Amino acid sequence: MRVYISSDIEGMPGVNNIDQISPGGIDYHRARKFMTDHVNTAAVKAFELGAKEVLINDSHGMMQNIMIEDLDERVRLVSGNVKSLCMGEGLQEKFDVCFLLGYHPMNGTRSAALDHTMYGVVCNEIRLNDRLVGESAITGLIAGAYGTPVALISGDQSLKSEIREFFGEIEFVQTKISQGRYTATTLHPKLVNNLLADAVGRAIEAHTAGKFRPLRFDPPYKFTLRTNNTGQADAAEVMPGVVRETGFSLSFTNDNFLTAYLGLYSMIMLATTGVSTKLGK
Ligand SMILES: [Zn+2]
Repeated sequence: MRVYISSDIEGMPGVNNIDQISPGGIDYHRARKFMTDHVNTAAVKAFELGAKEVLINDSHGMMQNIMIEDLDERVRLVSGNVKSLCMGEGLQEKFDVCFLLGYHPMNGTRSAALDHTMYGVVCNEIRLNDRLVGESAITGLIAGAYGTPVALISGDQSLKSEIREFFGEIEFVQTKISQGRYTATTLHPKLVNNLLADAVGRAIEAHTAGKFRPLRFDPPYKFTLRTNNTGQADAAEVMPGVVRETGFSLSFTNDNFLTAYLGLYSMIMLATTGVSTKLGK
C-alpha cells in the first residue's frame, strides 16, 4: 500500500492566528511543530499497518514548513513552491489512498479559523460548475483524477460540515472548535494525534475493504474565480481561453479535469501580479 498525505497548517490543533502561519511570525515555530508532529503520526501509523511508502506534500504558504529531521526516516517529503499540482503535488505518482491533514474551510465560512481558499490575497471564491469549492474538494478532485480516493481529513468542525458534502462518510479528525476567523477552542495536539492514529487505522481498514471511491464530477469542468478586486481580474484575463464573466470574476472550462485545474491555477498566479498596494488591497 502506498499512502499520500497533503498537509496544510491552518487546520492543525493549536493554530488560530496569522502570527502562527507565516515564517517570521513569533509563534510560527510552534505551528510548524504541530504540523510536523501531526503528519508524522499519520505516517508512522500507516507504516505500522503495512504501508510500503508514504509521500508527504507540504501544502502551506511557501510549502517548506514541515521539518524533515523530525519525521520518520522512511517518509519522502515534497517541500517548496511553485509546483503545478500545488496542494496535490506528487499525486502524479498514483497512490492507493490519500489523507488531507490540517485543512481548513473555504473563504467566507463562518466559525472557521483562518478560512480562505488557495491564495487568499486574490481568491474571494472559487466555483466548479457553479458549486463553491474549497481546498479540500479541489485537492480531492486532483487525487480523483489520478484514481486515488481520500480516506481521511483533519481540521475544525466547520471543515467537517464542508467535506461531508463532497466526500460522504470518510474518516474525519476534529482538531479544534473554531469560534471565529482568529479564535478557536483547540484540543491538545497530543490528544488530537492519538485520535488521528486511531482514525488512520480505521481509514486503512475501510480502504482495504474497498469502501472509498475517487472523487470525480462529470465533465465539462468550469472553474470560476472571483477575485478580490478588478485589477486582479484584469491580470488574469490576459490568459488565452479565459472568459471575463464580470468585473470580479473569470472562468476557464475544459473537459479534462486536470487541464481545467491548471487553468484555474494559472488564473490565480496571474491574478497575483495584479495586486496593487496603492488602493489598500
Ligand atoms: Zn490553505
